[in-house]
Amino acid sequence: MYGINNWGAGYFSVSDSGEVIVHPHANGTGVSLRKIVDGLIDRGLNMPVLLRFSDILDSRIKQLHESFAQAIAQFEYKGHYRGVYPIKVNQQQQVLEEIAEFGARYRHGFEAGSKAELIAAVSFMKNSEAYLVCNGYKDAEFVDLGLLARKMGIQSVFVVESPSELELIIERSKALEIEPIIGVRLKLSTQASGHWNHSGGERSVFGLNPSQVCDLVDRLREAEMLDCLQLLHYHVGSQIPNIRGIREAVVEACRVYTGLVHEGAPMGILDLGGGLAVDYDGSHADTATSRNYGLDEYCAAIIENMVSTLNEAEIPHPDIITESGRAIVAYYSVLLFNILDESRFEIQELPKQLGDDANELLVNLMEVVRVLETKNAQECYHDAFYYRDEIHQRFKHGTMTLRERAMAGEIFWHIVTRISKLTKEMEFVPDELQKLPSMLADIYYGNFSLFQSLPDVWAIDQLFPIMPIHRLEEKPSREVVLADITCDCDGKVDRFVGQYTTSDTLPLHNLTDEEYYLGVFLVGAYQETLGDLHNLLGDTNVATVEVGRDGHLRYTREIEGDSVADVLSYVEYDPKRVIRSIRKQAEEAVRTDSITARDRRRIMEAFENGMRGYTYFER
Ligand SMILES: *Cc1c(COP(=O)(O)O)cnc(C)c1O
Repeated sequence: MYGINNWGAGYFSVSDSGEVIVHPHANGTGVSLRKIVDGLIDRGLNMPVLLRFSDILDSRIKQLHESFAQAIAQFEYKGHYRGVYPIKVNQQQQVLEEIAEFGARYRHGFEAGSKAELIAAVSFMKNSEAYLVCNGYKDAEFVDLGLLARKMGIQSVFVVESPSELELIIERSKALEIEPIIGVRLKLSTQASGHWNHSGGERSVFGLNPSQVCDLVDRLREAEMLDCLQLLHYHVGSQIPNIRGIREAVVEACRVYTGLVHEGAPMGILDLGGGLAVDYDGSHADTATSRNYGLDEYCAAIIENMVSTLNEAEIPHPDIITESGRAIVAYYSVLLFNILDESRFEIQELPKQLGDDANELLVNLMEVVRVLETKNAQECYHDAFYYRDEIHQRFKHGTMTLRERAMAGEIFWHIVTRISKLTKEMEFVPDELQKLPSMLADIYYGNFSLFQSLPDVWAIDQLFPIMPIHRLEEKPSREVVLADITCDCDGKVDRFVGQYTTSDTLPLHNLTDEEYYLGVFLVGAYQETLGDLHNLLGDTNVATVEVGRDGHLRYTREIEGDSVADVLSYVEYDPKRVIRSIRKQAEEAVRTDSITARDRRRIMEAFENGMRGYTYFER
């Protein structure tokens, strides 16, 4: 029903007892998410919680390197594969620490796009054979930091993103007397489809076109630094859905690489950027939320095209870097939250009879109710809107009462919900009626903020798989849309991953006395740092879980989410001053005898506790 076997990639499945099972080592031992939640609640960590599975990071890095190793062996490629992790995809300290640890055996490095990311990366660079790729706009300080890292024995590479940057690198390296490793970012003419295609192609804001690349070679030769030019880089965009785009880009880059070798640059490294896509909806299709290839095919396509293009030109095989971020971290995190409440759209009970003196428009609306059937549903739909709008007008002009307006609303919704149900019996559903069932779907309110935890759903209509983590042996009886607890009407999810298609509603179970938990999956990439403080709902609690190969569960790390005081301080309040100001008001109320001194104590205790509390709904 939820397509978990399509998008789960071996990390998620459903048990016979109807619970979602996580297999952090992919297809190995698993543990029930419901059990993990119980363990967290027992320890006092409340929903919403972001769960991280360290072992999944380990497994992703391993899969990436093993796939490349296999393709390298198959096509007799002579260079090495070296991955780097682009920090912007998830900058959390824990993520870098774990990638550094799990990546060490493969010499996995980092890609930094700013000074802050560079400094974070340097603190984790432990291997002199791993690369530190410096992208992004660089000032003198950024360049100096990269050069000093080089001096410490780190293989830091400056990727020149714009012509002006080169002068700065030449100047600073002469000043500090440190020889840089220089790379150049190429603007490819190849454009991939998908959400982020505009980050590649000739109109891309980053990178040098072929004539600027030639200027760069001339300038380096003039400065007697051509031997520093060792790397060619491109990044077509994130989430490239089609393998053809990947093949075309790599072939074009190999031709430019060949040209640079012929120009006399030493070269030796080709950096293909990110773009390895995640199959969010499990459809394995060439669409923005999926991809039409797998990891093995991705690696084979790259290596095969490099071998044939470079062998033809008799160019030695360079080391290959890729900057996969999304594909490494997406599976790593799961957002868990509980459902707080529901709002149902049911066919409203109607008054049997309107009074004799009832307004004529109300009488007309009731007449629509009486004649409504499948074959005149569309006409009735138009009539209902017409009368309702008329009634709204009269109400605004003061010629209808609040009671009449309320009654009109009830009759109107009765008609529309009945039409929505009738569409199920229609052989042909007119366009304007097709959206009715989802417009009138019940709403379940989830204890989370879309803006904090799933910002891409709001910003770019990203799809994430969402499903209950328990009761899966029981057939869901409801079709709902999800709302969060911000008071923003954009704080909703109304597109979902199903088994074969996406749909506007999510099948869920009836709410009972027992807490009902949903999981949002594949949220490890980009969401945490892009998330914001809308309505001052802060960071969620975070828990890291490890599952031993014997199935033994360990809660290895807990990070308490933001308190109210935390989020207030982010928007420039001083929590102590806020409390002082409230205390002053309370004291004033004591002075004027509106409360007692004891009341003041109770009030202050409540506000002080509130300051320390979680920003989300607490039971
Ligand atoms: C964002 C970015 C990446 C990461 O791309 P993914 O699709 O997440 O792998 C890699 N390289 C550069 C230069 C980027 O800007």
